Amino acid sequence: MTSEATEVARVGLCLRCAWMRRVVSGRGSRFYLCGRHRHDPTFRKYPPLPVLQCRGFDPNPTTDPAE
Ligand code: SF4
Repeated sequence: MTSEATEVARVGLCLRCAWMRRVVSGRGSRFYLCGRHRHDPTFRKYPPLPVLQCRGFDPNPTTDPAE
């Protein structure tokens, strides 16, 4: 499995969502922040991964091949 495929499997839907922001720690760990949390606290700031279904999913046209 490629590292990209591994990331897709590990992160799920957030990887293709316009609201996701990658956060990289000083030690190089990657976290996936949900930008919807800022406006709607029913969304977790750091959702448990992988996210397989989400009512807030908004396809990012630059990363979603379906767009
Ligand atoms: S809206 Fe859903 S799919 Fe998009 S970043 Fe937030 S949790 Fe992930």
